[in-house]
Amino acid sequence: MEAQNYLDIKGRVLNIQRYCGEDGPGTRTTVFLKGCSYRCKWCSNPESIKPQPELDFNRKACKGAAACGICLKDPFPQGAFYVLDGDDDKVHANWDLANSCTEELAELCPTGAIGMFGKEMTAGEVLKEVLKDESMYRNTGGGVTISGGECLLQPDFTAAILRGAQESGIHTAIETAGNVPWEFMEKVLKYVDLMQHDNKLMNPDPERHKKWIGVTNKRSLENFKKAYETFPDVEFIARTPLIPGINADEGHIRAVLDFIKPYKNVIDYELLPYHRYGLGKYAYLGKVYELQDYQSPSPELLEHLRSIIDEAFGRKAEAKA
Ligand code: SF4
Repeated sequence: MEAQNYLDIKGRVLNIQRYCGEDGPGTRTTVFLKGCSYRCKWCSNPESIKPQPELDFNRKACKGAAACGICLKDPFPQGAFYVLDGDDDKVHANWDLANSCTEELAELCPTGAIGMFGKEMTAGEVLKEVLKDESMYRNTGGGVTISGGECLLQPDFTAAILRGAQESGIHTAIETAGNVPWEFMEKVLKYVDLMQHDNKLMNPDPERHKKWIGVTNKRSLENFKKAYETFPDVEFIARTPLIPGINADEGHIRAVLDFIKPYKNVIDYELLPYHRYGLGKYAYLGKVYELQDYQSPSPELLEHLRSIIDEAFGRKAEAKA
């Protein structure tokens, strides 16, 4: 990256969320990027998976073909939106055609029923948003977190934002599943204070990981170990989205602890209870959610599994002392 132009690097951003309390220490701004190399069946951000911006269609918000009908005509692709005889007057999307919609077309819809998930921005534009809350970061010990999707799939863009933040004295964090070429991770970690990484399924059977996540975890685990060893000054936190029936058991938690505990720079292990908040977004993307029958872990199970982690990190002993 050239010093004079690194902030001109462009990337695809899904969303920038201010005042976040869960993506690292203090109050933070979290930048969600487009594109992911995992396909977790429980994904709560399905709109982050595709690398390109894509259609966000909320049929309920449609004004109706008679009152509006803008998307039924040129310049919209012919047949991308249509009405059904005998149905209500709101339009339907033909997803194969409607997915070619652009931001310019989406802006023509007066109600926002047609929108886009994601847009292109420069690192400088993102940084400008991040810097709006500079004093809040200093007051709360917060900073910026780059998440996804998989933020390491856009390594130059992610590194540029984090470099800019560090040069302004802001704490930097990333959230990653680590399934990228090592060079991508290495490029970004130079500008990272805290890396939060997912250990979704430690099961040694690669087919099981593939079944739930789409690929094996071989590359992710190799990258995590290499990262702990190559960047001793970076802090790491392992995290598991906890899903009863898939990975919410003592054996799995202990397997993650066995993996991380030899490394002193892995400072914690967090459990993220499974939720279904993202379910509605599947309809806006014309997709089907496959985990209809799965439930969040019970408070008792969560407490039990968290107590194993507390013990491994010596927190109980500290509390008693
Ligand atoms: S442009 Fe928007 S509001 Fe108008 S008919 Fe199409 S979806 Fe409905």
